[in-house]
Amino acid sequence: MSVPVRRFDAVIVGGGGAGLRAALQLSEAGLKTAVLSKVFPTRSHTVAAQGGISASLGNVQEDRWDWHMYDTVKGSDWLGDQDAIEFMCRKAPEAVIELEHFGMPFDRLENGKIYQRPFGGHMANFGKTPVQRACAVADRTGHAMLHTLYQRNVRANTQFFVEWMALDLIRDADGDVVGVTALEMETGEISVLHAKAVLFATGGAGRIFSASTNAFINTGDGLGMTIRAGIPLEDMEFWQFHPTGVAGAGVLITEGVRGEGGILLNCNGERFMERYAPNAKDLASRDVVSRAMAVEIYEGRGCGKNKDHVLLKLDHLGPEIINQRLPGIREIAIKFAGVDPIKEPIPVVPTCHYQMGGIPTNYKGEVVAPKGDNPEDRVNGFYAAGECACASVHGANRLGTNSLLDLVVFGKSAGESMIEFIRNERPAHKPLPENAADYSLSRIARLENQTNGEEVADVRTAMQQVVQRHAGVFRTQEVLEEGVKQIKAVAERVKRTQIKDKSQVWNTARIEALEMDNLIEVALATLISAEARKESRGAHARDDFPDRNDETWMKHTLYSREDFKLSYKPVHNQPLTVDYIAPQKRVY
Ligand SMILES: Cc1cc2nc3c(=O)[nH]c(=O)nc-3n(C[C@H](O)[C@H](O)[C@H](O)COP(=O)(O)OP(=O)(O)OC[C@H]3O[C@@H](n4cnc5c(N)ncnc54)[C@H](O)[C@@H]3O)c2cc1C
Repeated sequence: MSVPVRRFDAVIVGGGGAGLRAALQLSEAGLKTAVLSKVFPTRSHTVAAQGGISASLGNVQEDRWDWHMYDTVKGSDWLGDQDAIEFMCRKAPEAVIELEHFGMPFDRLENGKIYQRPFGGHMANFGKTPVQRACAVADRTGHAMLHTLYQRNVRANTQFFVEWMALDLIRDADGDVVGVTALEMETGEISVLHAKAVLFATGGAGRIFSASTNAFINTGDGLGMTIRAGIPLEDMEFWQFHPTGVAGAGVLITEGVRGEGGILLNCNGERFMERYAPNAKDLASRDVVSRAMAVEIYEGRGCGKNKDHVLLKLDHLGPEIINQRLPGIREIAIKFAGVDPIKEPIPVVPTCHYQMGGIPTNYKGEVVAPKGDNPEDRVNGFYAAGECACASVHGANRLGTNSLLDLVVFGKSAGESMIEFIRNERPAHKPLPENAADYSLSRIARLENQTNGEEVADVRTAMQQVVQRHAGVFRTQEVLEEGVKQIKAVAERVKRTQIKDKSQVWNTARIEALEMDNLIEVALATLISAEARKESRGAHARDDFPDRNDETWMKHTLYSREDFKLSYKPVHNQPLTVDYIAPQKRVY
């Protein structure tokens, strides 16, 4: 079957912060650039980012990029690549000023400079005292960033394919990437987008968990497409649980609330974080706070009639601060928890929030995968940035506000790498392989022709329950092994899903089934990688291996789809210009 072919210099899958920043670079360089997005770009999940973007501007107190680098390496529990971390932290001030010049309406200090708030794990003087490093637009920083970048792209003539879903990556016989297949969601028509370079910026995959702060569109499509195309995924065992999801709803209450002075209480009214992190207290790193909360709940000091959550108290901040700096949070608390934080505390629980692993890249945004012995071989024509990518700056645990920074720093550097590649290495399109769309068409045909299959929703619920139960805040060998067994059984069920209601408008059922193919790849990668890592590091906390084991496990996991194979590659311990930050015990 022949399908329409559209030709661009660059194709970017994803219209969130990372995709838009990369697109801007390419369009402003005069390259014909397409951005595909399942939703209108300004509805991408970046819009939900609340607390801020980090940069050592030093507007409130003295700050330095190497202090930021130290915090990021420590936050990553020494799994982050120090070359990429140095690159990001050095570039941060420039990236934030650039956003300011693009028109992003940052909150201001009285002297007119950008306001900066405290955040978890942000410290001065190599971990000594808290510092205000998070630049914010009230509690709607992502919203402001996304609208700013979208408008700049409109001006730069980026071509948007809105409500288009990329289905599969197209690689030629050399293994080089030459385009993607995509489905126009309204019509169901399949096209090939032929490109000199392709960037994935498809965001996170938090929807593999049943309790998640992530949007429904966060189904790990970029990861699914990558692993189906034979490229392994990196460090998929590391998922961040945000301490403050609204109990029962999962909606996020930003760490910025604790940055502004909010505190966590157990059922005895005790500020328990003083016991777990005497120095940073409620602003310790997210994994530390999440585990402390889980222990409080587990040991019977949770709140409410089921003792299944703790309380986030902020009424002592007063209505003026709450209304001025945290208006969106007040609205969320009223709508989703039924409490007005000006008067009452908010019930919160640790909730799946962010994926540290993803598509392996270097700090230039180039996707790397082993061809022979070298795990760092570049996949020609293929780039990734943002939450779907693993650069790896977040290692085993991301510091709050480092993701928005990651989007703009690595979005831009991936854009620059693509420009260089297109100009110097691939000035003309490489031919498409014959029948480039056949694989995607066969996936759709399988769905259409399946009889006696299962509803996608049932299989998705089963997957989410397995992941929630077996890859949560605390993990043991037994729990993980059982999880691997169960997720493999769910994966078999995915092969027999069926679209029962073909009359549905907007192809919703078909799209959910195609997303399921991606979700299950991410769920398998998560459980299989987690079961194998026999240590505790950052967000991967094992009861049976409570310590970090640098000798054996200071290495990145690579998970391949073929036979569920795992391999490992070294952490980049050599920064670009400064000295290596040697491992220490991670205390806050
Ligand atoms: C509630 C919440 C609050 C947060 N607050 C902060 C914060 O204050 N500071 C911070 O640094 N980080 C924060 N984060 C994390 C941060 O917001 C995200 O990591 C980041 O925004 C992800 O951006 P992205 O560009 O990678 O992806 P997204 O913004 O998620 O965009 C993904 C894009 O890919 C598209 N897409 C996906 N699959 C396909 C497909 N198959 N075909 C076509 N298009 C596709 C989507 O339509 C979308 O346009 C927060 C996260 C959450 C959940």
